Amino acid sequence: MIFKDKVVLVTGSTRGIGKEICLKFAELGADIVINDIGNEDQAELLITEINEFGGKAIFVKANVAVFDEASSLIEQAIEEMGKIDILVNNAGITRDNLLIRMKEDEWDAVLNVNLKGTFNCMKAVSRHMMKRREGVMINLASVVGVIGNAGQSNYSASKAGVIGLTKTVAKELASRGIRVNAVAPGFIQTEMTKKLPDEIRAKVIDNIPLAEFGTSRDVANLVAFLASEDAKYITGQVVNIDGGMVM
Ligand code: NAP
Repeated sequence: MIFKDKVVLVTGSTRGIGKEICLKFAELGADIVINDIGNEDQAELLITEINEFGGKAIFVKANVAVFDEASSLIEQAIEEMGKIDILVNNAGITRDNLLIRMKEDEWDAVLNVNLKGTFNCMKAVSRHMMKRREGVMINLASVVGVIGNAGQSNYSASKAGVIGLTKTVAKELASRGIRVNAVAPGFIQTEMTKKLPDEIRAKVIDNIPLAEFGTSRDVANLVAFLASEDAKYITGQVVNIDGGMVM
């Protein structure tokens, strides 16, 4: 129960990697703030699962891409749970297209959720963490933010932005006792990657030395480690979790 009495907020967390991160922290004793733009029914089911581990959980509906909604999310979480120890910026979307066909709204939607949403929540929680002189932020980047990927100029730019944001805020907040890191998953089995056609999936697996997609649990295990005291000397890092795709 290494996270007993800790409060963890995970954005975009009623399904996929975010949901698994909530369950991992709950298993380790934390109280959880679940967030999503909708999905109230799934949030209720997740609260029940978390309660079974003995922890408290609440759901706060908010679109992290909207500055005021992200601020209210953080305020409501602090009001109802007393504090936020760990913020995991997980909410993310894809709108894939080749540059030549990419529409302005596809670019804007992805940058607004993935990059601006991360900025919005980090900014909103930073004053609270600075006052407490402790806190951990973990951002979901992606290996494509490091190596690029044809058809994902918007997504890779947003994730490269998340990496720059992570390193900068880590430098700004280290002296206040706050650690900021990113994880960069490769291909993880979730709704997001279910959309891939079979031939692309086969090609992707050819490029993964461990020859399979990762699981949400693999990512959740890494996030929990980075949030733990065992990682107290790690900040400003981007940790790849990709079956060896990027070495
Ligand atoms: P997912 O299954 O599509 O889940 C994304 C979650 O974010 C959903 O719950 C979604 O809500 C929520 N969300 C979307 N826009 C939001 C917004 N504006 N405000 C609040 N919540 C919002 O995705 P995933 O595969 O679990 O990915 C989680 C994170 O890991 C993302 O940042 C993604 O970019 C990153 N990642 C994933 C992979 C992978 O292979 N899966 C690889 C690298 C990085 P709805 O259910 O309402 O849509």
